[in-house]
Amino acid sequence: MNAASAIEYAVSHLKVKHIIIYGHYNCGGIKAAMLPEDLGAMNPWLRNIRDVYRLHREELDAIEDEHLRLVELNVQEQCLNVIKMACVQERYLLDGYPIVHGWVFDLRTGGLIDLNIDFKNILADIQKIYDLTDSERVVNARKKVG
Ligand SMILES: [Zn+2]
Repeated sequence: MNAASAIEYAVSHLKVKHIIIYGHYNCGGIKAAMLPEDLGAMNPWLRNIRDVYRLHREELDAIEDEHLRLVELNVQEQCLNVIKMACVQERYLLDGYPIVHGWVFDLRTGGLIDLNIDFKNILADIQKIYDLTDSERVVNARKKVG
């Protein structure tokens, strides 16, 4: 809810043009999520990452460096969660922004890896299920724009 509120304010009021979802390799949170253990107050937070693991289990179980790939997949899934937001979809429809980017920081090399999230195609695909743009507000805004 905290992140969603901040994103909504940034998108709808500050009119940011780019949203970067940022992960990093060698992430303690990712490693903790990969342990099927009760980690107390962190459980609800780790459950989001465990859900990502569940969604991509076949791919992850088939590779050796599953931790590295889970970092990337988690960034990708969190990009999807942002793209699912009504404020993001509505504003994109009106003025082509914001664009959502997924990046991973490699602590060993100092490198920044752009996961090249295919924003347009992901948005189109997501809207088959999560199209939240059919609100009266967007319809009225469309009329104004012409
Ligand atoms: Zn981390």
